[in-house]
Order: sequence, then C-alpha cells, then structure tokens
Amino acid sequence: MSQVCVECVKDKNIKKLIIKNGSKNTCTLCEEEHLSIDFEDRDFFSLVKAVLRFNFSEWEYNRHWGGDGLECLFYGEDNVFFEQERALSEDIYEELVLSITEGPVYEDYDKGISIFAGYGPDGMQNMLLESIKSSSDISLVKLANRLKSENYFKVEKELLKILAKFADVAKISLEKGATFYRARVGISDKKRSLGGGFETEYHFTPYTESAIGSPPPLMASAGRINRPGVAFFYCATDKYTAVSEVRPHPGDQVSIGKFALSNKAKIFNLSESQLLHFYSSDESLDTYIPLNTLSNFMNKVIPPSERQQYSFTQLIADCIRQMGFDGIMFNSTVGNGENIVLFDPSIVSYTNEDSEVVEVEQVKYTLETLKLISDDEIYS
Ligand SMILES: [Zn+2]
Repeated sequence: MSQVCVECVKDKNIKKLIIKNGSKNTCTLCEEEHLSIDFEDRDFFSLVKAVLRFNFSEWEYNRHWGGDGLECLFYGEDNVFFEQERALSEDIYEELVLSITEGPVYEDYDKGISIFAGYGPDGMQNMLLESIKSSSDISLVKLANRLKSENYFKVEKELLKILAKFADVAKISLEKGATFYRARVGISDKKRSLGGGFETEYHFTPYTESAIGSPPPLMASAGRINRPGVAFFYCATDKYTAVSEVRPHPGDQVSIGKFALSNKAKIFNLSESQLLHFYSSDESLDTYIPLNTLSNFMNKVIPPSERQQYSFTQLIADCIRQMGFDGIMFNSTVGNGENIVLFDPSIVSYTNEDSEVVEVEQVKYTLETLKLISDDEIYS
C-alpha cells in the first residue's frame, strides 16, 4: 500500500480529507506513523486534481501552450500540494507524483475531473481551462455592475436567491469560546526600563479591551463589508493574518488582542476550504464558481475614492445577515489564515491572554500583471 500522511501534505483541503478518511499508518514518504491515506485511492486522486484546477490555469502547465508540464507543479518548495522535503528519497516522491500525473487527465463532465480541455469532435482545440480561483460567475458580476446604476434593494432579491442555493454547504458553526485575533497599528504606552545595563530597553503596552475592539456604530466608517454607521467585528483566525490585514508599514508597532466568542455562531463560510464539497467532478467544480466569486469579491480591495458607494460586498454581507447568519468567513489574501466578520460585535469579548506588541520588519507586495490592450482584440 502506498500511503501519504497528513504531515507530508501541504494543501489544507487534502489535509482535511486525510483527517476525515485516513487511518494511522506508516507513511510511504516520510516513514513516520501518522494519519495517512492510500495515494492510489480514487477519491484522493480526484481531490488533488480539483486542487490543481483551483490553483492553476491550463496555460501554466500545458506544454503545447507554453507551460512547463504537469509534473512541474508538484516539485519545489513553492508547490502547493506536498511537503516534498519530507520525502526520504526522490524516487518515493516521484512515485507519488506519477500516481497523479499518469492517471486519467480527461474524464466525463459529471463523473470526474479533467485537467486538459482537449479537442472537440472537429479536431479543434477547446478553450483552455481557466483556474477556478480566477474564474468569475457572470450572473454575480452582472449584479455587482447593476449596483452602479440601480438601488440596492432591486439587486438584493436576486442576490438572496443565489446565496440561498449555498446556504447549506456554506454553513459552519463556531463554538462558544472559539478565539480570534484583531490588530491595530499603534500602542497604548511605551516606557523605558530602569534596570541596570548600558542599553536602553523599552517596554510596550498594547491597545487592549475596547481600544482594539470594533468602533461604536456611529464612529464606524464604511469598510469593505460594513456600511457607514454600521459596526461589524473584523477579526482573523491567527495573529499574522490579523496584523497583515491592517496593512501596516515597515517600522510600525502593532497591538494584537485576542477575543473569544461568548455564544455559538452560525457562519457563512466563503473560504477556500469549501472545495471539499465540490471535488467529485467538473460539473460540481463549476457549481463551486459562484461561491468562489463571492469570496473574491470579499477580498477585493476598494480604493478610497469608491468607498462612498454602496458596494457589492456590503450588500453580500447584508443579505447573509438577513438569512440568519452571524457572520462570514473568507480567505485572507495577505495572510495564511481566514478573515471573519461578525455582524454583532457584542457576541465576542476581549480576553486578557496573548495580547502583545509586534514591530513590522518588512512588508511584501504582491504584484499581478494585468492584460494590456492589443490591436487585434475586440473590446466593449
Ligand atoms: Zn509522511
């Protein structure tokens, strides 16, 4: 039996599958005893292909279109799938990669996942597959555009209909006591230590309690997700994400506070971990696209000049609140964790644990090359 363990897997969804379906076994890669799964298993194969389709567009790996080949996606430190360096030998790692790349790459639309678009009956190349991550659901994009010229309540009804379709898969419960982090640039106090020694040493006091909680409603300016005058509680599942989300500058001192849920909360989950509900076939991957489009909207940075508009993300949040949810969870684009927005700030309370001050050493920018206008294409 060929086993891969939860520690040798990098992708969050594959890890979850192993936790759900795996059993304690000796991993073929690292030879340690952990929760593991047979990597020749059909279900595992399907999920790895779904993760591939989520993250990559065909032109990134199809050799005929300038890609480096399917195998390349699985090698190197940056590969999103496995912890290659844990494998005891290259041959063993290659065996794992081959079990995927040598499997069927074309499957029936409703029965499996294809990683190449292939050719039509007329021998013509089908349109190359675009990553799920970057695909947008047309009807949602149209709704978002209508907000520019129509009142939100006319758009609201149709958005509610789309959201209702996902209410069951997207619903997760966060237990009472679940903890989150919030960050705020700045500190409450700084004192010079009077202890001996030649070097001056500073001690810091972070913002705590309400100074790091959400602002009162009347003070709340329009955010990505809240309307002006509405105070939502923005937080993150880990410290790094919380700090990154406040977009600090190098040299900034940032206070971190920890909060706990005082009640159970029903959350609409828009994070990438939803892929686990949609990996059985291309058909189900396609039904995942609207959910992912919603998540992309949540992450879109709105430039200050457009903040006065009633934005689509504010409408999404408002619809989800009307459906009886307590908040929304979505992936952070700047941290590794998730962002959580709770509609009612009073369901969380400040905990005295774990508060600290950090100094930002370095900020990493991610640039994305946008398409240029060319002469031979048609534009609207
Ligand atoms: Zn292992």
